[in-house]
Amino acid sequence: MLKQLNQQDLFRLLEQLAISFQLLVPQTLVDGTRGLLPWNGSQTSMSGEPLQRKPTALFFPQTDHLVHLGSDGMAATPAGSDKPLALCGLNREDLAGIAFIDRFFAAQPADDIYLKKRTAALIIGLTGYVGREQQFQPLAEGQCDFELIADQQHWLAVAYTESGKHWLADYPDGPEDVLQLLRETSRGIASQHEQAVKRASRLLQAEQVPDSFWEEISARCIRCGGCNFACPTCTCFCVQDRKTINGIERSRIWDSCQLDAFMREASGHNPMGTELLRTRRRIHHKLVDDPQRWGETGCILCGRCDRACPTGIGMFAICDEIVSRFDR
Ligand code: SF4
Ligand code: SF4
Repeated sequence: MLKQLNQQDLFRLLEQLAISFQLLVPQTLVDGTRGLLPWNGSQTSMSGEPLQRKPTALFFPQTDHLVHLGSDGMAATPAGSDKPLALCGLNREDLAGIAFIDRFFAAQPADDIYLKKRTAALIIGLTGYVGREQQFQPLAEGQCDFELIADQQHWLAVAYTESGKHWLADYPDGPEDVLQLLRETSRGIASQHEQAVKRASRLLQAEQVPDSFWEEISARCIRCGGCNFACPTCTCFCVQDRKTINGIERSRIWDSCQLDAFMREASGHNPMGTELLRTRRRIHHKLVDDPQRWGETGCILCGRCDRACPTGIGMFAICDEIVSRFDR
């Protein structure tokens, strides 16, 4: 389904969505970065520039309260919010990140806590001429309920799910030829880092990268965990029990495979007991294990780990180094 919206239509649509959902829209923050914040009924920046925080955290938060065990022996799960989430304004990479962890949490044994939040939510992509100074942002062409594509005059809206079709039903049909032109423009844009990540993945799968490389790289890691905590496709967590005044609260909290305690066993044995093994694992998981399990790398090319890493060993930096040193 293809529709065309003008600015008034867009506001009408957002107003309608805000009745049924907790609607978050892109806003420019005081420091110039972007975040998804509750829609307040007024103008939003509607910019498709990257978001600082990973949006997957809205469904898989850093601390996720799971259950409260009362001193009377009764278990109670936390009440969810009144309305499901509607996220408006995700770019192609962030939509890919949500799709990646959707598949992970839906695999058996399915994660009911994640899926409950996620299946009730509405996801809206934002692409086309919505970058800084109206720079073109590649189209998502799926992975959301509907995609808003700025064509410099209007918003084209393409629905991919029944829910997306429902919300767009009242708006006029859009021009197929304009959409086709935008698709061609989008497919002509080469991702700056995609080639290096794919080539590094092939080299790692062919075991062309020696341990001495990982020794060098891992010596730079200060074990802050920032790369994992910033990454939209990292899904590792540990479970924490905390005493409350009337029982125990069980939560899951994000874990980081770069931290020393990540796989340490109660006996003290740690199968990932060195920096070399942990750094190698972080990259191998995304570029070797994920392609084997899912048919694609676990890196959706968002660049957050490169921005987060204080010592310059994020995914893009490492892939560039692998390619320059081992691709013959
Ligand atoms: S660029 Fe880094 S943070 Fe982004 S998906 Fe890839 S590994 Fe994760
Ligand atoms: S962000 Fe960099 S320094 Fe921090 S844990 Fe990750 S690789 Fe190590």
